[in-house]
Amino acid sequence: MNVSRRKFMKTSAVAAGAMTVRSIPAWANSAVQVAVMAPLSVFEYSEVQLLDGPLRHQFDHNHDLFLHLDEDALLKPFRQREGMPAPGPDMGGWYDNADDFSPPENFHAFIPGHTFGQYLSGLARAYAVTGSTATQEKVHRLVWAFAETVKPSGKFYVGYHLPAYTYDKTSCGLIDAHQFAKCPNALDAHWRATQAVLPYLPEKALSRPEQRARRHSSVADTWDETYTLPENFFLAYQRSGDSRYRDLATRFIEKEYFDPLAEGQNVLPGEHAYSHVNAFSSAMQAYLVLGDEKYLRAASNGLRMVQEQSYATGGWGPDEAFVEPGKGLLDASLGTTHASFETPCGAYGHFKITRYLLRVTRDSRYGDSMERVLYNTIAGATPILADGTSFYYSDYNNSARKVHHRDKWPCCSGTFPQLTADYGISSYYKSQDGIYVNLFIPSRVSWSHNDTRCKLTQTTEYPRANTTQFAFALERPANFAVYVRIPAWAGAKTLLSINGRRWDNPIEPGKFLALQRTWKDGDRVELELEMPLRLEAVDDQNPNTVALMRGPLALFAVGETPTRITRSQLLAAAPVTQSSHDWTTQTDSGVLTLRPFAAIMSEGYRLYQRVEA
Ligand SMILES: [Zn+2]
Repeated sequence: MNVSRRKFMKTSAVAAGAMTVRSIPAWANSAVQVAVMAPLSVFEYSEVQLLDGPLRHQFDHNHDLFLHLDEDALLKPFRQREGMPAPGPDMGGWYDNADDFSPPENFHAFIPGHTFGQYLSGLARAYAVTGSTATQEKVHRLVWAFAETVKPSGKFYVGYHLPAYTYDKTSCGLIDAHQFAKCPNALDAHWRATQAVLPYLPEKALSRPEQRARRHSSVADTWDETYTLPENFFLAYQRSGDSRYRDLATRFIEKEYFDPLAEGQNVLPGEHAYSHVNAFSSAMQAYLVLGDEKYLRAASNGLRMVQEQSYATGGWGPDEAFVEPGKGLLDASLGTTHASFETPCGAYGHFKITRYLLRVTRDSRYGDSMERVLYNTIAGATPILADGTSFYYSDYNNSARKVHHRDKWPCCSGTFPQLTADYGISSYYKSQDGIYVNLFIPSRVSWSHNDTRCKLTQTTEYPRANTTQFAFALERPANFAVYVRIPAWAGAKTLLSINGRRWDNPIEPGKFLALQRTWKDGDRVELELEMPLRLEAVDDQNPNTVALMRGPLALFAVGETPTRITRSQLLAAAPVTQSSHDWTTQTDSGVLTLRPFAAIMSEGYRLYQRVEA
């Protein structure tokens, strides 16, 4: 560490208040200056393994599907647009290079090659989780073949509707190929891809109104997402040490969005939902790299404003837009749209921002928010099919059903494999004094505390069951802290025991519970969370439109909905059997059955019930 950098970090440590400034991660380039190191860091992908269960199945499905996709088909739009030989089949849907795109009727060939980088990213992360050489080799082959299509003064972006959008995803894929799949030429390809797109980018991040005000040949030209670019530019800077990426990141920070958010001004209404939540992650990178706390405030205020207009599932953004608060518009959406929450993309963006904020603040409520979105949205998404048929919107309409998206290979087919590869690293975090347990998922985390190898295995059927067990395997006894998230909804009967002995100190919901002791091989911790049933109104203007919640789970009414339901009847619901997902309750006009989103198949369902005052 040279003198000027030490000085830089010292100054920014003061600016960052309580933040601890530590050495930068081993993988980062030594030339990189990072202002703030969050007190919590993520584990390596290989250090957290999901064990058998529905989330592991989702990860395995996506890994297998993308591992077997035709490589010529994936590369075809890039080769075609550069006038190169382009063998192999078309992918179909949004991905193709063709000239029949005509919104809103026809979205074929909407954004040629748009998700290539996300599939690359999902595979690179899946390799890092599993160590599968077939996966690593596929990533390397794809990067080599992609690099061949990137020409100086190339033609790929000529007449391209959303250059920043596709470049941003390509950038992420190449960074991940370098970082997680050790692809030697990925950073070189990244720089060349950056040079290829720069002539097609505006001078700064543009909002959609600004894009509409500029000359454009198609409405799709006004949907580009330049405001999400800084996150990956900052990551490229940290990967490569090339300060030109930091300069680009700074150039595309959308000050007109973040400055008012940092001041607590709600500028979300009307904005495109997913991309503006995704932009919060750019604010977090700006905070971490530049050290300006304004960006931390912008991201945390922004997420709070999103949560204030979220459905009981944790999903947000009916028709992909934020609504005006205080007007009962979330309730109104239940009767007007089936496009209630853009699920794989929205959940991916939600996981990213809650991971950043949890790492910086150690506030367990970001974990509560993450698990609510996990179990009520993405865990119930139907699998992507081999032909690109994908789950896109969760439907919270009063007459709702799970459906596939009209178009093949949409945006949500890109974020889904990235998100499922991230389940492990979202579950646990490292601190200087131990580890944080954030999600209750069957899994195993391995790490070294000082020089002691430690393993923690979590066994659970949460959230159907309200218990989870942790078993420790240690080379030798070691003193460290295990911080366990106690969700804010947890009831007073929540219990924890260590080696069968009840923990007598207070257990405070909405906090991480610190278990500091000398841990030894064979130690066991059991957590039993009281999950009282509660009702959540859709918005303040409609207090009698409620969803039944049990812990993190929203329970959806299925089958015939009785005409008359009272609050006390909903709150009297009970599980059908101990092992059943279904809950039932008696109403005056028959039995009401309720089911979590992940257990719903093709049957109709209803999230919100109208109850009598
Ligand atoms: Zn999407």
